[in-house]
Parts: sequence; C-alpha cells; structure tokens
Amino acid sequence: MTAPLVEARGVRKTFGHNEVLQGIDLQVDVGEVVCLIGPSGSGKSTFLRCINHLERIDGGTLTVDGEHVGYRMHDDKLYELREDEVAERRAKIGMVFQRFNLFGHMTAERNVMEAPMSVLGLSKEQARREARELLTRVGLAERMHAYPHELSGGQQQRVAIARALAMKPQLMLFDEPTSALDPELVGEVLDVMRELAREGMTMIVVTHEMSFARDVADRVIFMDGGVVVEQGPAADVIGAPRHARTREFLGKVG
Ligand code: ADP
Ligand code: MG
Repeated sequence: MTAPLVEARGVRKTFGHNEVLQGIDLQVDVGEVVCLIGPSGSGKSTFLRCINHLERIDGGTLTVDGEHVGYRMHDDKLYELREDEVAERRAKIGMVFQRFNLFGHMTAERNVMEAPMSVLGLSKEQARREARELLTRVGLAERMHAYPHELSGGQQQRVAIARALAMKPQLMLFDEPTSALDPELVGEVLDVMRELAREGMTMIVVTHEMSFARDVADRVIFMDGGVVVEQGPAADVIGAPRHARTREFLGKVG
C-alpha cells in the first residue's frame, strides 16, 4: 500500500457567505485517473484550484504527495508557505484550463521551453530538445514554430498539455479542457489525454465528456452543491447512479 498522491479531508472553502466546498473528502492514488463531474457552480474548479493552492482553503486538510499544499505543519499548526515555496510545490502539478492560456508572442516550442528554463534551470538546448519531444508526442511535430494564433483551438490545447508536461509533473489537473473547443477538435485533445492516462499519469479531470469518463476514468466523482454526492467506477456512477441528483445531472448532459 502506497500513500495516496492526493488526499483531501473535510476541505472547506468559502467566498463571502457562500460556502462553495462543504467538506470534500477525496483520495487519488498514484496512476489513478479520476473524472470529476457535476453541474455548473458545484465547486469543481474551486476544488482543483485548491489542490495547487491557487485558492487557499478555509477548513480541513489537503495534501499532495504527503505535503500540505501551501502550508507547513509545525507543532500541529499550519503555517502558510512563502510564495516561492508555494511555486516550488506547484511546479509538480500540471494544470490545463478551459482556455489555452498560451503566451501569444511565443511559438509553440517557446511556450513549452519557457518554464523548464526559468523554473527548472534547464539550458536552452536541453529545453528545446525536450519541447520537441513533447510536441511530437502530442502530434505537433510539424507545428513547433507556429504562434498560438496560427493554431486551431485543439492544437493550442495540445501545446498547453505539452507545456504542462514539460515540468515533469507528478499530477495533472484538467479543468474542462475541451469545453471551449469546436466539436470536431475535441477528439484530438481527448486522444492525447487518453494516451497520457495509459502511460500511467495521475490525473484529475473535470469534464462533461461522459464517453471519455466511461472509457478512461478509474473512478468518477459526482459533485453537487460543494459536496461529493457519489463516487465509484464509471460503470456505476454513470451507468447506474444511486442518487437522484446524479441521475438528474446525467439526464441533462446526455
Ligand atoms: P464549477 O467549476 O463546478 O462550475 P466553481 O468552482 O467555478 O464551480 O464555482 C463554485 C461557486 O463558487 C460558484 O457559486 C461561483 O460563483 C463561486 N466562486 C468561484 N470562484 C469565486 C471567486 N473567486 N469569488 C467568489 N465566488 C466564486
Ligand atoms: Mg468550472
């Protein structure tokens, strides 16, 4: 038995008077692919953002690889880490958003080279070598020198995935990575994610793509109103949901 890579216990998050996460318990093991589904506003993005400390939590504990995200434990108390310490931990967690967030003034290759050079201290040659390997892996060997505006949404999203992988993350977080794409471009991005899952990457994927969840997820988690309503194998949660809220949601997303 190895320790879970991600462990959330009673995670709470409040914005003003709005308790968006009302005690989330969740474990993700190394190599596991978890799909997070649920209606808009249920707290899925907030929870992902808590995992890499883009949001601080107001209650409970959240660890990645045994370390408190954003905090250090001392005499049973948690102390927030300095920004540079947070950045160091965050570097082990890749995140891909709905919008591609590429640097518009840099080529695909440059986008992928940037963080390894500035954060990991790779030489330009090494960073370029690795960027080329990664862009080839996501099917963009021919488009390395293109700028984001010259690429389709699906190609941009694949660059974003390559850019996250360039940091050699232990964990990849995806927040509706295909929601902003034209339907015909969704498949090429899901294929890259499917391959990544097959290679053993630990992934938490917020998605409305039920067929992807069914095929790829080891576990599906249905969230609603800031709580985990049910979780289990896709065949159960999507195929035979136990809760009325899950059934209602699945009826809407098809
Ligand atoms: P989901 O990703 O499931 O659609 P979110 O995590 O984005 O849900 O949002 C959950 C709730 O938290 C929503 O009611 C949203 O309006 C609120 N929320 C999210 N981010 C903020 C913020 N920065 N400030 C205030 N409210 C927020
Ligand atoms: Mg969201």
